[in-house]
Amino acid sequence: MTKKCESCRVGIDAKVEKCPNCGASQRSWFTRHPIITGIFILILLGIIGMVIVGMNPNSSNQLQTYSGGGGGNSFIQEHMEHALQHLVL
Ligand SMILES: [Zn+2]
Repeated sequence: MTKKCESCRVGIDAKVEKCPNCGASQRSWFTRHPIITGIFILILLGIIGMVIVGMNPNSSNQLQTYSGGGGGNSFIQEHMEHALQHLVL
C-alpha cells in the first residue's frame, strides 16, 4: 500500500513515518500529539456534558424519576436529540 508524501508528493510506503525522499514526517498531527489529543477529547466531552445539563435545569429531578423506571437509555437519547437540535439552530 502506497501514498503520496505530504511535502514532496513522491509515492512512498504508507507505513513509513518519514519520507525517504525529503525526510518529512508522514504521521498525522494526532499521532504526533497523543496527550494533547486526549486532553482535547476530554474537554470536548465536558463541554457537551455541560451543554446538555445547562439546557435541562430539571434534569436531576428527571434522572431520579427515570433511575427507578429503568428507562435510562431513552432518557439520554431524548436529551441528546434536544442538544443536537440546539446545536443546529
Ligand atoms: Zn517527501
